[in-house]
Amino acid sequence: MDRQMKGKMNLAMGSGGSIVVEQCQVCGFPRLEEVLFLGYLPPVNKMVSVGTPPCEQPSYPALLLYCPQCRLVQLGLIVDPCILFPPEYPYTSGTTKILRENFVDLYRECVTIVKLGPDDLIVDIGSNDGTLLSNFASQHRVQGITPEKIGELAIQKGIPTLVSYFNREAVNKIISEKGQAKVITATNVFAHMEDIHEIVNCIMDLLKPEGIFISESHYVVSLIETLQYDTIYHEHLRYYSVSSLKYLLEMHGLEIIHVKRIPTHGGSIRVYAARKGVYPVRDTVRNILRDEEKFGFDREKFRSFKEKVILSKLALHSLLLEIKKQKGRIYGIGAPSRASTLINYVGIDDGILDYVLEVKGSYKIGKYVPGTLIPVVDEEILFRDQPQYALLLSWHIAEDLIPKLKQKGFKGKFIIPLPSPHVES
Ligand SMILES: [Zn+2]
Repeated sequence: MDRQMKGKMNLAMGSGGSIVVEQCQVCGFPRLEEVLFLGYLPPVNKMVSVGTPPCEQPSYPALLLYCPQCRLVQLGLIVDPCILFPPEYPYTSGTTKILRENFVDLYRECVTIVKLGPDDLIVDIGSNDGTLLSNFASQHRVQGITPEKIGELAIQKGIPTLVSYFNREAVNKIISEKGQAKVITATNVFAHMEDIHEIVNCIMDLLKPEGIFISESHYVVSLIETLQYDTIYHEHLRYYSVSSLKYLLEMHGLEIIHVKRIPTHGGSIRVYAARKGVYPVRDTVRNILRDEEKFGFDREKFRSFKEKVILSKLALHSLLLEIKKQKGRIYGIGAPSRASTLINYVGIDDGILDYVLEVKGSYKIGKYVPGTLIPVVDEEILFRDQPQYALLLSWHIAEDLIPKLKQKGFKGKFIIPLPSPHVES
């Protein structure tokens, strides 16, 4: 209780600033170990219009920490969401083909695990434009909840959506209007929300006794294996392994009953949990925990991760240096959040990258990449200018991107920045 009270007073949300993490966000352990420091990064959604003279802008330290007690990898600073998502940021769905296919897969898998009838309620936390729930909507009752205006788009599509943060008040409203949920989903949001114990308490209240909670999160093992330092930014407060999620969920009486590794965001985990003893625990859980044990989360693993990240950054520098010595022109492809971390951490500026390209309609067009004077422009320019090189900032979907760009007429070469920087024709 004491710790919870203390936690409440120390929330970044609503503070207008940030909070330094001095004890583990999950277990409260005070001696967190430093893994990697990416320097001070600007908020990824704070984008200034091209032509604006550079002016004062905030940056926040991005220090990755490891808790040896519950094994959680976490960021050392929590920034108020009102800074990370400024009012001028027009929330877009970001729903790509790979995500849509993933949600179809989630639905198919979910109904093999839990029996769902027409009256059963499915609640999606962070429901965005309602894409996940649209898979359930024809057969069951659904309820989305999202703090973003885009929730209104979901409502237009016929997905009931509460435009609100997921908190006690929202949960009470859903329970009083629709009752408890048989399934609660939280995809790519469970690692983003502050005050995680209050969030899980709310989930427990909303979940029927035989209900299932499904979360999808970027997987820290993928992050380490493929050196995805570019997924480290302030929206991502925690980087879960199955063992650290198990620790968190067990604190609230939940048990992991099934786990699947999925390809979204460069490697994620889909984790099914229920109240302890209600469902059989599948072998997938024991297997992945055993694999994590073999993988090892220790000082040596993180020391070697840091060393590899630094060598990878320097290798990218060398590669860019050789191209620039030959007067090669390089355009960046895609401006997702992770591009901002990569560009700022590696130190890429407008003398190295002429432009970063986004598809037509992106709100990022006409703005600078955060922390730089690199303009984001319409992708069309790539096919007109034909620079010698395209730097893939969404390198984790290179297999999809390269054929598409070639098909649209790009004749240059591709720079893949991670894990091992190289050029592909
Ligand atoms: Zn911990």
